[in-house]
Amino acid sequence: MHSFDVLIIGAGPAGIAAAIAARKSGVKVGVVDDNLTAGGQIWRGAVPRKWTDAFLNSGTHLLAGTRIFDAPQQGLLLAKTLESLIELRYERLILATGARELFLPFPGWTLPNIMGAGGLQAMVKGGLDIAGKRVVVAGSGPLLIAVAASLHKHGAKLQAIVEQAFLSSQTRFAASILSQPSKAWQGAKLLWTLHGVPMRHGAYPVRAEGDGRVRSVTLSNGAKVDCDYLACGFGLVPNTELASLLGCRLNGHFVEADEAQQTSVASVYAAGEITGIGGLEKSLVEGTIAAYRATGNLAAARSLDRQRKTTHTFQRTMDVAFALRPELFKLANEATKVCRCEDVTLGALEPFNSWREAKLHTRCGMGPCQGRICGPILRGVKGWRDEGVRPPIFPVDVAALVQTSGVQAR
Ligand SMILES: Cc1cc2nc3c(=O)[nH]c(=O)nc-3n(C[C@H](O)[C@H](O)[C@H](O)COP(=O)(O)OP(=O)(O)OC[C@H]3O[C@@H](n4cnc5c(N)ncnc54)[C@H](O)[C@@H]3O)c2cc1C
Repeated sequence: MHSFDVLIIGAGPAGIAAAIAARKSGVKVGVVDDNLTAGGQIWRGAVPRKWTDAFLNSGTHLLAGTRIFDAPQQGLLLAKTLESLIELRYERLILATGARELFLPFPGWTLPNIMGAGGLQAMVKGGLDIAGKRVVVAGSGPLLIAVAASLHKHGAKLQAIVEQAFLSSQTRFAASILSQPSKAWQGAKLLWTLHGVPMRHGAYPVRAEGDGRVRSVTLSNGAKVDCDYLACGFGLVPNTELASLLGCRLNGHFVEADEAQQTSVASVYAAGEITGIGGLEKSLVEGTIAAYRATGNLAAARSLDRQRKTTHTFQRTMDVAFALRPELFKLANEATKVCRCEDVTLGALEPFNSWREAKLHTRCGMGPCQGRICGPILRGVKGWRDEGVRPPIFPVDVAALVQTSGVQAR
């Protein structure tokens, strides 16, 4: 068992910034992440020097390779490490669990070599050789440009970047970030790297074809593009399962947090992508504010109010510019799989009216991802609401569940 004054879940930018700020008060701080290294989605173990040094020197306890799967009582979480089950006790909790990619189904989307845009980037950073491979990057949001630039740097032959938002809304987005010179400069640099790569605006994949792996993708504008990989992501979905299990109120799909990053549950704070998709700066500033508030350092927290507001303005601008078009939710046909863990097609869900009914009859959402992929899909395609979260929020082996019941009985 481990006990902390401040426990942080997620070692992405929000969690790292929170740990550094919380340690300034001298309290005992723990950070848990299911990955083997700190850094979250954007840094993936390659945390910039400034943040690595501050994090490593802060005296934070990092519990890597550790996944929280249950919250049986107030002040107690259960986690699974590679070898065992551990109990984590806390006085104050900061949730910085980040986001995952949103996938939308279209005929052929489950063919091998069709991956999330950030997913393919992560595999390439992890060693996948993409040099000389023909890649189409499709979906929505600024992440597409970041991914395309990174794949280009690793030698991929980019066939096209396909953004569902219309050029007019992207132009408005570009104009609005001119007031933030660092972001505008960052965007301009990425676009310069990609000059010469065909950009398709207001288009999206309607069909992918291949034999054993993807060979081509057909776009909504009628173009058919040959490729070896299709990197496809339609924005991000927040990882709110743990927050929901703890009883934190949601605001739409996100965890509700006030200007102090306080959730609706006492002593539980939320920071980063789980409160709204706003990029790196938002995660860093929210993590810092949450930690200052959790450790009673109110003046330091308040000094960041303006910075927080700027990141929230950027978040709203992105929400509007890259809002998904309704057509995107109508691409799947009867034979298209919507739950790829359990091989459930859209046609098989026809007789059912709710997520629960569908689960009971087809096992849709009951595979290894526990509905993390098909849940958001069915929200968009069928309009089905989430029906609450139950532990364990990640699959665990039976031995862990037996131990869990022991913990609850004590
Ligand atoms: C696949 C992907 C790739 C991305 N690539 C880029 C990019 O190249 N450039 C860019 O600007 N932005 C990128 N983003 C956006 C980026 O994630 C954010 O800008 C920022 O990193 C979010 O920081 P965060 O700390 O809020 O969350 P994250 O960085 O997502 O960190 C959250 C961490 O919490 C961990 N976690 C969640 N639940 C649990 C649990 N129950 N137990 C233990 N650990 C848990 C996760 O594994 C993760 O490491 C990407 C996003 C995704 C999903």
